[in-house]
Amino acid sequence: MAPNGDSTLPPEPHKIFDTILVLDFGSQYTHLITRRLRELNIYSEMLPCTQKIADLDWKPVGVILSGGPYSVYEQGAPHVDPAVFDLDVPVLGICYGLQELAWRIADTNVAAGTKREYGHAQVKVTKHGGEQAKVDRLFEGLEEDMVVWMSHGDKLSGLPKGFVTIAETGNSPFAGIASVEKPWFGIQFHPEVTHTKKGTQLIKNFAKNICKAKDDWTMAAFVDKEIARIRALVGEKGQVIGAVSGGVDSTVAAKLMHEAIGDRFHAVLVDNGVMRLNEAKIVHETLTKGLGVNLTVVDASERFLNKLKGIKDDPERKRKVIGNTFIEVFQEKAKEIAAAAHGSPKEGEIEWLLQGTLYPDVIESISFKGPSATIKTHHNVGGLLEGMHLKLIEPLRELFKDEVRELGTKLGIPEDLVWRHPFPGPGLAIRIIGEVTPEQVRIAQEADHIFIEEIRKAGLYRDISQAYAALLPVKAVGVMGDKRVHAQVIALRAVQTTDFMTADVYPFEMKFLSNVSTRIVNEVDGVCRVVYEITSKPPGTIEME
Ligand code: GLN
Repeated sequence: MAPNGDSTLPPEPHKIFDTILVLDFGSQYTHLITRRLRELNIYSEMLPCTQKIADLDWKPVGVILSGGPYSVYEQGAPHVDPAVFDLDVPVLGICYGLQELAWRIADTNVAAGTKREYGHAQVKVTKHGGEQAKVDRLFEGLEEDMVVWMSHGDKLSGLPKGFVTIAETGNSPFAGIASVEKPWFGIQFHPEVTHTKKGTQLIKNFAKNICKAKDDWTMAAFVDKEIARIRALVGEKGQVIGAVSGGVDSTVAAKLMHEAIGDRFHAVLVDNGVMRLNEAKIVHETLTKGLGVNLTVVDASERFLNKLKGIKDDPERKRKVIGNTFIEVFQEKAKEIAAAAHGSPKEGEIEWLLQGTLYPDVIESISFKGPSATIKTHHNVGGLLEGMHLKLIEPLRELFKDEVRELGTKLGIPEDLVWRHPFPGPGLAIRIIGEVTPEQVRIAQEADHIFIEEIRKAGLYRDISQAYAALLPVKAVGVMGDKRVHAQVIALRAVQTTDFMTADVYPFEMKFLSNVSTRIVNEVDGVCRVVYEITSKPPGTIEME
């Protein structure tokens, strides 16, 4: 949780915005429920299914029980705290959540079905009307025949007492149920996945019409509240330090900190020598001149490149060397800034470290991984800065990536930057196969610059999720200006993906590729050939090493 134990502090979003609590039973789609709600401007947070309601210091306006890989009747299967049903708020069970509702709360048998239902299914909605019209609210405005997406093997053997059927499929007579007395609903299918065509409408029906949640979760509303929260947290004199990289997350976090506490936020950019062409300079300009952030650039390129010398075919070592050197350099600088920052003892000392943690990282650390799995606590880099005892401040920890982009736009960060492709921490070092030398860095930087420039010119940048030029450690023969040359090969890589877990190769037109190739071969000394890397992920990874 955010370091917010003090009751004088402004409250967290779940105390300000109507919040739908999603309890996670381990489904791979749980986070999508939260996302769909946020897209509807309804605030939602996810917690593991083992959450004790008594331990919450806030009250949700509705609860959703997610799907999960277990069977409710199995020994050791996870179960919801029954106190959820005493909260006196609407509850929606999805798949495992429906089975949990029936089995645990309404005492109805759930058993392995004879047929698994996996994939698309046709649901028939039953409207009741009259005295029971309340149970129709979940499917309000939806057609009677709906295409939905299912993924289950278990099913209810009967209708729980006090419930009515609101939807059925050929295989599942209780594909949707609702309590007659209480605002409790259950559905066997997954409304959160896009394969369920009208799924978002159903989630909206639950959240807006049934839970009466206000749809006021917008970045405009978030930003003022978050700034007030940062101010209160840090106090009038407190100082914060944080690393920036030129990427979206660290830039948005830095700008937000700057808005909240001005120059008491110290941004540090470590130039590790393997950044993009002119990157340190560009980030410096954007952050200081453009956004007004108090930034120190540390040029440590030589130190990094010296340490990378001789590492030829051990990508893991490259990553480690860069990671460790980064911590060393950042720590030295942090101590320097801290020493300069506190004029009189104990006043204005740096006690906070900014981290650009996003909600998916938080979700990853709290998702329910099974009865035997211990729940990981979120990695904490605060401990990295030895001896400084810094407390963490994570102003983006409630946000999804698209929300961070929206926030960035709200804060006046240029579009180009807000939509920037991701760039790895170890930078070009993992795009230069083989040894990283200043000469190899130059070639990779120049080629990458041309490729990205052409992509932007062609208006394809936003369409592509990530693109870069890699340098292969082989030499090929070419003829340039009637002279035989023996020079290196550049591999272009461009992918499209929504989640970076799987990715497709971007289908450039041949004309585009040959134009990029001509430019690179002509303009970058040391290159005589260009290839397009066409491996999807999996089996390839997006980066080369
Ligand atoms: N394991 C349960 C079943 O197979 C629930 C599946 C789910 O929630 N997707 O029915």
